[in-house]
Amino acid sequence: MSRCLLVSNRLPVTYDENINNFKSSSGGLVSAIKGLDATVVGCAFEWMGILTDDIAGELIEKARQTPAGNLACHPIVVPKDLYHHYYNEYSNNVIWPLFHYERSLVMHSEKGWRSYCQVNLLVAEAILKESKDGDTIWVHDFQLMLVPGVLKKKNPKLRVGFFLHIPFPSSEIFRELPQRKEILQSLIKADLLGFHDLSYLNHFRSSLQRVLGENPMPEKSLGVYPISIDTQNFRELSEAPDTKAFIEKYKANKKEMKWILGVDRLDYIKGLILKLRAFRKLLKEYPEERGKVQLVQIVIPSRTEVPEYQKLKARIEQLVSSINGEFGTPAYMPISYIYHSVSENELSALYQLSEVMHIGSTRDGMNLVSLEYVVSQNEKYPGVVLLSEFAGAHSTLSYAMSINPWNIGETARKMKEALHHPEVKRRGEMTAMKNFLQRYNSSEWARIFLRDLQYTAIERKAVVLPDDGKFPWMNLLSGKRVVIFCDLDGTLAPISRFPSDVRLQQNTIDLLRQISRTTAEFVVVSGRDKEFLEEQFLDQDFTFPLAACHGAYYYSPFEEEWVNLVSHDSMKWKAGVLDILKLYSSRTPGSFVEDKGHAVTWHYRNSPNEFADFLANKLTFELEESLTNQPVQVNRGKKVIEVKSVNANKGYFVEQWLQRREYLPDIVIAIGDDTTDEDMFDMLQGRSDVKTFCIKVGKEKSHARYSLPDQGRVGDFLENLLESLGPHENSFS
Ligand code: UDP
Repeated sequence: MSRCLLVSNRLPVTYDENINNFKSSSGGLVSAIKGLDATVVGCAFEWMGILTDDIAGELIEKARQTPAGNLACHPIVVPKDLYHHYYNEYSNNVIWPLFHYERSLVMHSEKGWRSYCQVNLLVAEAILKESKDGDTIWVHDFQLMLVPGVLKKKNPKLRVGFFLHIPFPSSEIFRELPQRKEILQSLIKADLLGFHDLSYLNHFRSSLQRVLGENPMPEKSLGVYPISIDTQNFRELSEAPDTKAFIEKYKANKKEMKWILGVDRLDYIKGLILKLRAFRKLLKEYPEERGKVQLVQIVIPSRTEVPEYQKLKARIEQLVSSINGEFGTPAYMPISYIYHSVSENELSALYQLSEVMHIGSTRDGMNLVSLEYVVSQNEKYPGVVLLSEFAGAHSTLSYAMSINPWNIGETARKMKEALHHPEVKRRGEMTAMKNFLQRYNSSEWARIFLRDLQYTAIERKAVVLPDDGKFPWMNLLSGKRVVIFCDLDGTLAPISRFPSDVRLQQNTIDLLRQISRTTAEFVVVSGRDKEFLEEQFLDQDFTFPLAACHGAYYYSPFEEEWVNLVSHDSMKWKAGVLDILKLYSSRTPGSFVEDKGHAVTWHYRNSPNEFADFLANKLTFELEESLTNQPVQVNRGKKVIEVKSVNANKGYFVEQWLQRREYLPDIVIAIGDDTTDEDMFDMLQGRSDVKTFCIKVGKEKSHARYSLPDQGRVGDFLENLLESLGPHENSFS
């Protein structure tokens, strides 16, 4: 099994002074990866992240030995001072505010940038040292944006994925970044670059265009992968006895009071001041709500040493006390303000007890709290999510009630509406969102990203025909039962501007005549129709088996007639296509897959328009690329993508042909120049019961292990083949 090295700023373990050791930490990414089934994803995970050198050497060793779940950890040691400049001065003071549209909070720093470069280099070097051939590297987030560039420069063979967990801002904002070119030039080197939301991807694309003047990233290297949560864990938490105890405790005090819940890290991106103002507006405009609704606001301490965050905290607390002062009574405190973390059981209880969850972020890469609230809801009496349209989760939670947090009046109105949203509507909406998250959990998120990363895999370099025209393995052919499957256009005959003009050249005809007299069996496998092949081959003084229309028709020289081989479609392609369609469906709310027997269809009429259209483009592209040579047709209809069998494929033909033989040959050679020949190569190279040699004619990417630089060298190759086979009468059939 191959290995996947996950790389993030921090390791998924945290040092606990009380036990003088590390323990596994929580968080979206950690639970996503912990929940992954290595056999499903096809790789085993290990984690690399930074530890500063102030932690004693002995502890570094402990971190290495403390796996997070079953994930091995590899600490990357960085000097503390350098880390400070990289992390605080550049990552948090430049990238974080700029990427969240808080330009006034950006504090540019030359030293910060230099440290960012240095730490990214240290991280990349540690990865290069740790990685082995065949490893997949998955780099996470904005602190490590220069890593893909360094990795690919030093080892282009590494497969590198990058995921950005924060928004990518509009190019209007991004182009203000002094180091915009360096960042983009590194990110474009990743084999796959993932974002939470389509808008982030679009901003990235337009930034490439504006800053670099081009978009050099192939479509398949960009993707949208909204992160999800460990749904199962939150389901279990909601039933846990400790959670129930919290529920009982709070219920006694809550009585008939309705709760609007807020759970936010202390950060200016969370829109806390705007939320408080909207709540004040609610109490002001709708006096009937006073005494009946309480805002329960949990603020999780964060970056407590940073003056900007201290100021924010003071402003929040001032506003909270002013609202409580204005609308409070001895029996009613409008805002219950909690400035500390809560346990996961308490959090689950709060999610279940609150009638409304309010997420008012001005910008938020995703926002997991909103998803956690949804999966924690009681099916019979669910609540309502008020969700900022500036949070990435907005695309995932299609039935949340949208708010523009900047519009205080409208937000207050929506709060009122949410508090009185009819039960039957709440049930329908919450069930739809819950069902979606049941399928699309954090493991699914990681699995889809990693699967797409494998799909962008780097091709193996083929062995090119040596100058003497002979591959070393040709020495094995003499005296063996050899079958050669050979393409026509671009292989036996040169490509012509007008396909109808293509003719076999005299020297090729001479060589083929001689090959026909050897023990080897030579089969022409072409995309051409029967008539064309008849013209080319049946008037010669030798005969070969012929396959027309990519193997749909077969001509046997013994029977002297054409047979339709694949009229009964085996539908072998279907399972693979269904898998792909289901992957797309599982990440697109409102879409579904239909199996029509001879065709499979992905319907997305009821999905969020822009996102589904984007995925549909990507899916069409992916299907067309991976299925070009399969007996299927990809059709794009109105909000529908359909894949249909067309009953013709060279790989399938070769497989059937071999199956029908009484004896398997010792050696099978396949040669071709076209994408349709890749199916022969794939099929043959996957067989273990016969020796195979697949040869690509031309320099394009191919799965074949051997190659001829162009059609002009096919003559050389055939001559050497002939010599290696030996001049005997054809006796093998
Ligand atoms: N959370 C926490 N401690 C708490 C309350 C919540 O660790 O006291 C968790 C919460 O369950 C969620 C995460 O913090 O998983 C916050 O993630 P989100 O994406 O909402 O915001 P971020 O902090 O990443 O910006």
